[in-house]
Amino acid sequence: MSNEQVTAGKAVGIHFTLKLCDGKVVDSSEGQDPMLYLHGQGNIVPGLEEQLDGKAIGDKINADVDPEQGYGIRKEAGMTEVPRTDFPDDVKFVKGMQFVFEGEGGEVAPGWVVDFTDETVMIDLNHPLAGEHLHFEVEICSVRDATQEELKHGHPHGAGGHEH
Ligand code: ZN
Repeated sequence: MSNEQVTAGKAVGIHFTLKLCDGKVVDSSEGQDPMLYLHGQGNIVPGLEEQLDGKAIGDKINADVDPEQGYGIRKEAGMTEVPRTDFPDDVKFVKGMQFVFEGEGGEVAPGWVVDFTDETVMIDLNHPLAGEHLHFEVEICSVRDATQEELKHGHPHGAGGHEH
């Protein structure tokens, strides 16, 4: 039976609903294949990964996750205005779009588009769900050993997983 337990190095399929404190659903696997993730690799937020550890196929859990263990706390001065010309010409901007930015020291950080005009793009360096308490309802649908290739990539392949 230990094969069915969620431990590091397992590819785990889950159905989940993510709600905020006000009950608003912000993400869900409903109507899709279960989401597949690689346990122990940081594919999902740390607070949820921790609470799934040791669970088994068929288990249903409600996991409340603090911002620190979720998408982080909101950073002051997270907003920054970037000239449109810093982006490739063919980018079609959509609010919520994610980019990876390189700082002056070569460090990279993700940022999300909150607004844009023909001249400038307003970027928030905070994850859209930063500062939020997260409420997950999760059902564990499948647990299997990850393949060597999946472990090397750090994510699972196949239905519900990473597409190359
Ligand atoms: Zn891969």
